Amino acid sequence: MKIVVLKFGGTSVGSIDKIRNISNIIQDYKKKGNKVIVVSSAMGGVTNDLIKKSRMISKNFSDAEYDVLVSSGEQIACSLIAGKLIDKGYKSRSWLAWQIPILTNGHYKNSRINQIGKKEIIKYLKKGGIPIIAGFQGVNNEKRITTIGRGGSDASAIMLSKFFKAQRCIIYTDVEGVYTTDPNKLINAKKIKEISYEEMLEMASLGAKVMQPVSIQDARLNRIDIEVKSSFKKKSGTVITKKSNISNNRIITGITSTINDAKVTLVGVKDKPGVAASIFKPLSKNLINVDMVVQNISANGKETDLTFTIKSDDLIKTKKIILRNKNIVYRDLKFDKEVSKISIIGVGMITTPGVTFRMFQKLADKKINILVISTSEIKISVLIEKKNVTKALKALHKEFGLNK
Ligand code: ADP
Ligand code: ASP
Ligand code: MG
Repeated sequence: MKIVVLKFGGTSVGSIDKIRNISNIIQDYKKKGNKVIVVSSAMGGVTNDLIKKSRMISKNFSDAEYDVLVSSGEQIACSLIAGKLIDKGYKSRSWLAWQIPILTNGHYKNSRINQIGKKEIIKYLKKGGIPIIAGFQGVNNEKRITTIGRGGSDASAIMLSKFFKAQRCIIYTDVEGVYTTDPNKLINAKKIKEISYEEMLEMASLGAKVMQPVSIQDARLNRIDIEVKSSFKKKSGTVITKKSNISNNRIITGITSTINDAKVTLVGVKDKPGVAASIFKPLSKNLINVDMVVQNISANGKETDLTFTIKSDDLIKTKKIILRNKNIVYRDLKFDKEVSKISIIGVGMITTPGVTFRMFQKLADKKINILVISTSEIKISVLIEKKNVTKALKALHKEFGLNK
């Protein structure tokens, strides 16, 4: 069976007109003889709105109920899409995750899909039907509804492609593909034709919202090629691929920036063995992810300043945990939300010396101060003041030849 999985993001189903538009896209694939599985996200803005409502009810809204609530937006979008296709004369119906079922394990809010029932959908496809499946949601072994993390309908599409052995998995969104940097932030951003899982995973994890990081891990694990393209323009997009011989003649493939990082500094910490561990242990116990870390030794060698970054959402919790921690002595505690992490990503840097220097020099030329640094084989990240983000993006994009 020639199955294609088509995923539509919130930006592609954000209005009745947009749903009409994507019904034409679905129709085109159907007319070409494909068996089409559609995955939809909620209409743009709906999920955010539901999250806001949960916060208005309680600061500690139950995680299990959160999943029931925030997954409801997908139901609306799926029924509207199915309704439009039926109106056009096609056989179509919506499917919620529990009806298939799409089984997940892990915690509420951040579950992972591990199994998908195939029987009914296959039967329906064979009869010529077009199933419209709710992305982002699943059901756990207690028969309770789960969600798989923000932007998770990307992962729903990849896992459906895996279980149904789809020939193509296409992610329709509001931009023409994956760009060298967010095209809504930098007009000079260029569309990338092909990108490896490794680079895409780094880009997604470091702020390129166009794909959810978990979905790229799932694609890499299952060797699924993904096409990312626009639902508004008929143009070729980006292929995220298992192919190993991608050549783009560039040292750097992409640049990302974040808006949700915060910096924490403990000033004048008594420097003795185990001090960093006693700071980070209670944080990890509370599932707070510490990202970048830097430690400066003071002039007298007895004290140190420890700086690290976390997600801004974890700031209040982190503050509480540190203040409660009796195992550490320090002079002052500082928090800063006006920071952003800028990262350059590319496998090319493995074989090219001097990339770090070029990045730092460029930022220095622009009088941008680097607060914290972290690196891996294929990426360099620096923390800078938020007000300098656009200047830094522009300068680095040009420095590494991405404008061309
Ligand atoms: P969808 O609703 O289709 O899931 P998202 O909002 O999740 O769409 O992702 C698309 C957005 O990702 C774009 O509008 C763009 O602003 C943003 N984006 C960030 N980085 C990149 C990048 N490198 N390439 C393309 N888009 C990017
Ligand atoms: N609607 C969900 C969200 O906003 C899932 C998704 O968009 O993929 O996070
Ligand atoms: Mg998305």
